[in-house]
Amino acid sequence: MVKEIFDSALLEVLDKEDSVSFAELKAGRCRFPLGGINEPPVRFCGSPTVIGAIYCKDCMRIAYRRVERR
Ligand SMILES: [Zn+2]
Repeated sequence: MVKEIFDSALLEVLDKEDSVSFAELKAGRCRFPLGGINEPPVRFCGSPTVIGAIYCKDCMRIAYRRVERR
């Protein structure tokens, strides 16, 4: 059940049309890597980040879930 929630949250982000390449990443932009967990990241989220964080709120949700899964 937890895995299903994780996957749907990840897909929401992978669907983003405004993802950016590494060269396009700027301060204040979410640097969450899109794509498979075991693939080298090519595109990044690029949404405005939460203040003081490196990810936007959607990606923080996913990132923290990844940590918990260790
Ligand atoms: Zn993001």
